[in-house]
Amino acid sequence: MKIFNTLTRNVEEFVPNVEGKVSMYTCGPTVYHFAHIGNLRSYIMEDVLEKSFRYLGYDVKRVMNITDVGHLSSDADTGEDKMLKGAKREHKTVMEIAKFYTDAFFEDCKKLNIKRPDVVEPATNCITEFIHMIEVLLEKGYAYQAGENIYFDTSKLKDYYVFSSQSEKELMVGVRDDVEEDTNKRNKSDFVLWFTKSKFDNQELKWESPWGLGYPGWHIECSCISMKHLGEYMDIHCGGVDNIFPHHTNEIAQSEAYVGHKWCNYWFHVHHLNDKSGKMSKSKGDFLTVSLLESKGYNPLVYRMFCLQSHYRKPLEFSYEVMDNVAAAYNKLVKKIAELKDEGNVDDAKFAEYDARFKDAVGNDLNTSMAITVVYDVLRADMNDKTKLSLIQSFDKVLSLDLLSGKSGKNAENEETDEELTAYVLSKIEERKAAKKEKDFAKADAIRNELLEQGIVLEDTREGVRWRKM
Ligand code: AMP
Ligand code: ZN
Repeated sequence: MKIFNTLTRNVEEFVPNVEGKVSMYTCGPTVYHFAHIGNLRSYIMEDVLEKSFRYLGYDVKRVMNITDVGHLSSDADTGEDKMLKGAKREHKTVMEIAKFYTDAFFEDCKKLNIKRPDVVEPATNCITEFIHMIEVLLEKGYAYQAGENIYFDTSKLKDYYVFSSQSEKELMVGVRDDVEEDTNKRNKSDFVLWFTKSKFDNQELKWESPWGLGYPGWHIECSCISMKHLGEYMDIHCGGVDNIFPHHTNEIAQSEAYVGHKWCNYWFHVHHLNDKSGKMSKSKGDFLTVSLLESKGYNPLVYRMFCLQSHYRKPLEFSYEVMDNVAAAYNKLVKKIAELKDEGNVDDAKFAEYDARFKDAVGNDLNTSMAITVVYDVLRADMNDKTKLSLIQSFDKVLSLDLLSGKSGKNAENEETDEELTAYVLSKIEERKAAKKEKDFAKADAIRNELLEQGIVLEDTREGVRWRKM
């Protein structure tokens, strides 16, 4: 696997700390609002990265935090507390807001076929770990107390701006002169580890600490939560490009000061989804969500395909025109795959040839558009349908576009043919639903059996009734 490493600014061969295993960390959402489709671009590409590692034979352990405390509206320590902002907007408590938007986030992920990371940990679960890390940083002389807050002293590091070139470093120091002055800081680039003197009178969540009642800064979350589950050596850390500075820069500063050695080897950053007015962001208020796309009639997986068709290291501009083109291409592709006959035997040589091409694509700095091209190549290639189906089924472990859904009937509404059949089955499903509501279970069963005799299988799922042809 070759991957671009933001730390070295090069595409590098990925070599994990332990052979065959990957420890992977993802900065999770700040749960004060719905995720917008920009945030979800990052999570889709991180999902493809994780699945590519697995496809290439690695055993992956992936951890993600949920930011439910400490994230101020500027990623430096200024501005409003995002969670308080959400709570005020909706007249709810911070914890109610956190629960609601965490659930909403995972619902969106499910619709986009984004796998839930192996470990998901809310920041408010780990206060003891944060306090411990801050105590060690104080003991080691990397942190100081001033104005009742605890700060990280960036001047104690040889190289704080690890992600930047020399000229960028000079520029960044200049830019930082503009940030709101906190007279407690010894250096402009220092950042808060623990707030005891809250700027917010109505700060809702506070915990006892050796320094008094307070709450953690945002950056400490990811250092602690990743170490809690992945140990002192990590292979790869992910996020959107806006996380590079200051968030990931600060994570590296405090983590390496704490462990006393290099912490994470590879840094994977996804570029932004923009709309016509620039970077899509939650703070703008008016943003695009998965539900909005659904209400306009788009299958969420069309958005996943939209993302996969461009490289994660290029900014991507959202437009409905492109979405319409992708939707048409997606429906055509699913239909074409549905026409393949599930008969005969897999041609092992052909399978190996195209599987290698797919692995080359994802293993080449996650070239997802090339990976989709391999799907089209398989459809065009000279091989039997069974081999084509096996290959596409296998690739879909990574692409997760439900490419075989036309065969299973899950996306039957996308097929142009069989419209009459679809209408008929849906009317029967409605009839059965009504019968169940009336508690006429005999009738409900009779409808199911009647369909079964016609080769239609009904499946009751949490999302409702699905149907497929036998
Ligand atoms: P947040 O919920 O604001 O903490 O952000 C969650 C993730 O989305 C982070 O990894 C961000 O870097 C990423 N992100 C934020 N805005 C965008 C965007 N417009 N496009 C892609 N990723 C983004
Ligand atoms: Zn983080």
